[in-house]
Amino acid sequence: MNFIADRLKRIKPSMTVGINVKANALRAEGKDVLVLAAGEPDFDTPINIRKAASDAMEDGQTRYVPGKGTPALQKAIQSKFLKDNNLNYDLDEIIVGVGGKHIIYNAMMATINPNDEVIIPAPFWVSYPDIVLLAEGKPIVVKCPENQNFKITADQLENSITDKTKWLMLNSPSNPTGSLYSKKELKELAEVLLKYPQVLIMSDDIYEKIIYDNLEFNTLAAIEPKLKDRCLTLNGVSKAYCMTGWRLGYCGAPKEIIAAMNKIQSQSTTSTSSISMAAAVEAINGPQEFIKDHNDAFLRRRDLVVSLLNNIDGLSCLTPEGAFYVYPSCEGVIGKKTPDGNRISNDEEFMNYLLDSEGIAGVHGAAFGLSPYFRLSYATSDEILTDACKRIKRACEKLK
Ligand code: PMP
Ligand code: GLU
Repeated sequence: MNFIADRLKRIKPSMTVGINVKANALRAEGKDVLVLAAGEPDFDTPINIRKAASDAMEDGQTRYVPGKGTPALQKAIQSKFLKDNNLNYDLDEIIVGVGGKHIIYNAMMATINPNDEVIIPAPFWVSYPDIVLLAEGKPIVVKCPENQNFKITADQLENSITDKTKWLMLNSPSNPTGSLYSKKELKELAEVLLKYPQVLIMSDDIYEKIIYDNLEFNTLAAIEPKLKDRCLTLNGVSKAYCMTGWRLGYCGAPKEIIAAMNKIQSQSTTSTSSISMAAAVEAINGPQEFIKDHNDAFLRRRDLVVSLLNNIDGLSCLTPEGAFYVYPSCEGVIGKKTPDGNRISNDEEFMNYLLDSEGIAGVHGAAFGLSPYFRLSYATSDEILTDACKRIKRACEKLK
């Protein structure tokens, strides 16, 4: 008997989640594995945020709450959008979900009709195409090579739009590359988008606060106000506030889309946890100074990893502008033979070799739609990063 629905045949499990779980399981078995596959900060949730959650529990905030968010959280998000992004959203243009991933899922389920097209610049965060497929849409993957800093150009965008295009997915700073769209680049994309009123834009700003070198964050709805009624501006507390396990994301979007997402939520999750909502109010309204401390650590680790990787024959690595991932090219090792005599023919085989020979867990580029690359997260200690790069160098030196 096959009990599983046909729609599941369209998708695969998340590689980022899967590889991370596998690597941690190997470590739990006592294997010497360095896990650089995780998409989360290595810092704990700041104490004031944890305290807000325990206060909420003590205070009896333990019952159902509105799916779109408690009034306090809705107001905190509204002020955040205004203060950080110069975006003025009414409360009925804001919704809270069970993580940014769930916001994307609900938005796609709420808007996509069978075979509607979604433009996804590659490399992309692994979940975009599969969420689109689950919603019966058609991912249109546009490869954005390294020489354009892995970003989609206005020409590429224009050439990809058809009368079936429903969404463009934008993610800046990007997972997996850390690339950041400048104001000028967003304006160029906006000029194209203004010509095609059928296209909605998902602006995935989840890494907004993790940016280096004094670069400036920009989001499309603020850059081109005429597009605001077609933008979904996505954010959440997972990355900036080190709250990946609390499962809370949110967005601002046109009110019909928010109402449709809320309808889905009312029949599925109802809401995220009331305790996570109380914690998120403190995260968003409370002190923000620790973010700079975290970013100082991420910056130091970024520079360490980029320089160590660029010292390895066969690899080359751009310097990311944000987030906490590097996306080095492994073109120089493709075609070489491992000491066991196996030829490395793609980035997945290279990552398998690194895991088997040196216990390095990262994610192969094919999972993000652009090869031959791999993603390492540098949200871990300097010691682990130094050890990891030493092992990768040793593994590469053994290739013939
Ligand atoms: N977008 C991107 C680009 C991400 O990397 C993540 C983290 N997995 C998310 C959205 C969603 O994060 P969360 O569901 O934890 O809010
Ligand atoms: N966003 C993280 C990553 O890319 C977390 C895992 C996930 O939800 O995909 O690794």
